[in-house]
Amino acid sequence: MPKTFKINNPSTGELISEVRINSNDEIQQALKNGHESFKKWSKVNAHERSRLLKKWSDKIQEHKTEIAEIMTLENGKPLKESLGEVDYATSYIDWYAEEAKRIYGRTIPAATETKRIIVSKQPIGLVAAITPWNFPAAMMTRKAAPALAAGCTFIVKPAEDTPLTTIKLIELAYEIGIPADAIQYVIGDGKEVGELFTSSEYVRKITFTGSTPVGKSLIKNSAHTVKHVTMELGGHAPLIIAEDADLDIAVSQTIASKFRNAGQTCVCANRIIVHENVIEEFSAKLTKEVRKLKVGNGLEEDTHIGPIINEKGYEKIVVQINDALEKGAEALVGNEYNTNKEKGYFFVYPTVLKNVNLNMKIMHEETFGPVAPLISFKELEEAVEIANSTPYGLAAYFFTNNYKTGTYLHDHLDFGIVGWNDGAPSAAHVPFGGMKESGLGREGGIEGIEPYLETKFLSIGNL
Ligand code: ADP
Repeated sequence: MPKTFKINNPSTGELISEVRINSNDEIQQALKNGHESFKKWSKVNAHERSRLLKKWSDKIQEHKTEIAEIMTLENGKPLKESLGEVDYATSYIDWYAEEAKRIYGRTIPAATETKRIIVSKQPIGLVAAITPWNFPAAMMTRKAAPALAAGCTFIVKPAEDTPLTTIKLIELAYEIGIPADAIQYVIGDGKEVGELFTSSEYVRKITFTGSTPVGKSLIKNSAHTVKHVTMELGGHAPLIIAEDADLDIAVSQTIASKFRNAGQTCVCANRIIVHENVIEEFSAKLTKEVRKLKVGNGLEEDTHIGPIINEKGYEKIVVQINDALEKGAEALVGNEYNTNKEKGYFFVYPTVLKNVNLNMKIMHEETFGPVAPLISFKELEEAVEIANSTPYGLAAYFFTNNYKTGTYLHDHLDFGIVGWNDGAPSAAHVPFGGMKESGLGREGGIEGIEPYLETKFLSIGNL
């Protein structure tokens, strides 16, 4: 009997599918095929690669509802968010379909009349990707689209909890004519497949979205063969509310940032840092809005907050909430659960904590859950110090209508993504990525295709 992963619906615990795990030999063969097919795919001209990507995007859109339902079934996120993620996923394909045609080189004036200097870009080779469960569609296309656009071949290992969306998207790529060895998926355990990818002489680049410890091990293992790496790792986003902020905007954007995907994104606000003169009013308004959020099965139309992906994720959230409560925090709303360990579902009600201090785990460890801890500040410098006191540097948000305050915060926050009066800044046309231990490199925007390209310089002499 071949080994399989059981895919369960995190809203009910029900088995929805079983997916066959690939053997090591199959994965090695897939890597070899990806390497071999690079010779052909890298020679397909950029306009044709662009056309194929556009066709892939259109095909995905034709199947939008079906894909969104698969995503909600395996990930649990509300159907509306899954539909939004299909758009978000195709926006990367559309963007890089265009960028494929804009991979420019340059000429450099030579220091002598007898030389010409030309700089060109070429695809780096086979790219191996490892993706997470929280955005099963978009984290894959954000890597596959620039790779294929650049002329690289691509192989992905989706997360064990959510492989079905990836499988569906790649099947659609085959349907519209992207060659089968140019984009492939393999199914297996993260650590084992990670080792096959990093040790393979065929793989020239590893691209990863996931936790910081796993990212570090992938960087280390990639060193043996000096592979390129792009790492989108953990975060612990601060969200600062200045004294002059528009509190209604701050509340709606805090909810957008904090509670999307039940708080299970690396850019979710993890620390809400509020000026002492407005913290009472802000927490009352936030609590009122949070009470309206409906927790439940993502397939039900009025659900805002779906389940936590698995027991491990759930336990981490509960430990952080209890730790905060034991150390003096107070839950204004939430701290309620609907779980059934035997059946295998875990819901955490959206929670707002006040009287939070820096000794609490929640102020340092990534929560990945619908919990908003509020801490107050007096001076802006203090807010910045709290915000930057983390090894992470992915996303930060602030709310102010004072341009001096805003400029100061922008200048002093050590984060790769900054939202000013904006709780949802991410898009295909902007560079997404973190500083410090949140990662290396950027995905999206014009920056997002560079990591798939090598620079070659030609010197023509004796003219
Ligand atoms: P989480 O704890 O949120 O699941 P991970 O970083 O563990 O985050 O998982 C993200 C992706 O990394 C998944 O596809 C998972 O299979 C994979 N993964 C987990 N451990 C390793 C590892 N040691 N090496 C490579 N990939 C891994």
